[in-house]
Amino acid sequence: MTPPATTTPTSNFLRTIIENDLAAGRHADKRWAGRPGPASVQKDAPLDTARIRTRFPPEPNGYLHIGHAKSICINFGMAGDYEGACHLRFDDTNPEKEEEEYVRAIIEAVKWLGFDWKYKNEENLYFASDYFEYMYEFAQSLIRAGDAYVDEQSPEEIRATRGTLTEKGTNSPWRDRPAEESLALLAEMRAGKHPDGSLALRAKIDMGSPNINMRDPVLYRIRHTAHHRTGTDWCIYPMYTWAHPVEDALEGITHSFCTLEFEDQRPFYDWILNKLADQGQLCRPLPQQYEFARLNLSYVVTSKRKLLQLVQEGHVHGWDDPRMPTLAGLRRRGYTPESIRLFCERLGVSKADSRIDYSVLEQALRDDLDPKAERRVAVLDPLKLVITNYPEGQSEVCQAPRNPHDPDAGKREFPFSRELWIERDDFREDPPKKYFRLFPGNTVRLKYGYVVKCTGCVKDEHGEVVEVHAEYLPDTKSGTPGSDSVKVKGNITWVSAQHAVAAEIRLYDRLFADPHPDAGDKNFLEALNPNSVQIVQGWLEPGIVAAPESHWQFERLGYFVADRIDSSPERPVINRTATLRDSWV
Ligand code: ATP
Ligand code: MG
Repeated sequence: MTPPATTTPTSNFLRTIIENDLAAGRHADKRWAGRPGPASVQKDAPLDTARIRTRFPPEPNGYLHIGHAKSICINFGMAGDYEGACHLRFDDTNPEKEEEEYVRAIIEAVKWLGFDWKYKNEENLYFASDYFEYMYEFAQSLIRAGDAYVDEQSPEEIRATRGTLTEKGTNSPWRDRPAEESLALLAEMRAGKHPDGSLALRAKIDMGSPNINMRDPVLYRIRHTAHHRTGTDWCIYPMYTWAHPVEDALEGITHSFCTLEFEDQRPFYDWILNKLADQGQLCRPLPQQYEFARLNLSYVVTSKRKLLQLVQEGHVHGWDDPRMPTLAGLRRRGYTPESIRLFCERLGVSKADSRIDYSVLEQALRDDLDPKAERRVAVLDPLKLVITNYPEGQSEVCQAPRNPHDPDAGKREFPFSRELWIERDDFREDPPKKYFRLFPGNTVRLKYGYVVKCTGCVKDEHGEVVEVHAEYLPDTKSGTPGSDSVKVKGNITWVSAQHAVAAEIRLYDRLFADPHPDAGDKNFLEALNPNSVQIVQGWLEPGIVAAPESHWQFERLGYFVADRIDSSPERPVINRTATLRDSWV
């Protein structure tokens, strides 16, 4: 279920927890009916053959981003490493912001990253909204046991009586109403007899608890809003903190990994599950929650709300814009699943919040592609080079390795001829010191071709260089005996003008110019990099087949990919994924 690890996984505190639990047999007598359900479904079922169960629980209210990749790699990775199962669960308990489009995009992104949720013959793709009926029954059980009550205070009153970090909260006047009354009101809430915000179901815990999350948290609120899967069946929706432990327990999750901001919720998570187990609704052993630090990446925002704003306000062209930190955007930009998994592996897992530099992500891409990406030549800012002593109409074949690290990959061939495209920057009429490329009187090697001597240039009426002239030295062709008898300091790339393939090349850069675009109360939109994309018309090595999602290293320039949406072999559109070196240091 998991792609083979590229290296032996390094130990981390989550692995230690799992290994200790396995050694102690903490989940050894957990039963599993092959499908989620409460005690009535699980109690007589066979023992679970999955040694651990984890889950990745996205809310379908946006596309997955690089931060989610960390969580995906942890959850699916651990399940794969310890002969377990990892469920993909849509945490779709909030009807307002959720959509089918996001469900599809999330499934596609997790698959693309290389993971799947099957375990033996189990599909393990779940929707929290499928558990609404169980949640309702559990709520009734809590009420009957005196652990929950229907409150008639308004949301503002509930907030105002919750207290603060230093002051206790105050009990609701409805806190001690008889269970029968709460049960009847809950039924009316469900039946749609009450408007939004007029009633709420609350857990009865302790308004004096030092942990504010334990001060009678709300379990159900009324929302007369249609849901993308359950339509108008429900007008009460569970709060996340109530729904989440229940979802984990129904699915027989052993280890519930989440990010640190949920640490303060753990006592409530345990409270709910223990109450429901005591009341016979759930079987033990119960899931355990563990927290790890979320991924913060410099130059990137990962709040789904802010990403949505970038899309809606047109700062980018959609969720899969190659500048977006979404998995769909990174994919289009040319990141490979392997590079993202490598990045997550290098991040490790810890409990300390930190910010990772964006260059770490780029380096993972380079390290993944360097040994496997085929090399090609491209010219992004073309200037004509005329080899004045090379016959017109003639051409000959040059050879270059497909990948210098992999001799078995063989060679590629492309023509040399009288007129070539070179990078404008590779010629200077008046060179600065230590400039070793083309200038009048200097010799350079045309990589994989001949040594040429620059004889001058042609300028237009504005003084702009439009053509460079050179003469080639016939005995210097790369790969022929004695070709290196003429020593040169410069080595430049080129493509034959008559044979080159025209392409639109999109030179992407970071979306934000500020390493911490949304730190403090900064307006992240002000940190947008005005030069995050530059579109040029360039020339590619002949013979290149720009099928969507082909990756290459363009020599001297960086890693590039054929855009998966806009590119075709007839009309290549190429995205720059990353330069060869970090240009931001
Ligand atoms: P947002 O706050 O932007 O909406 P979220 O955390 O609410 O993001 P979910 O869809 O609820 O998004 O996240 C699914 C899972 O991914 C959760 O378990 C969450 O902890 C994890 N996750 C989200 N962002 C990160 C991150 N930056 N690093 C690691 N894990 C993350
Ligand atoms: Mg969330």
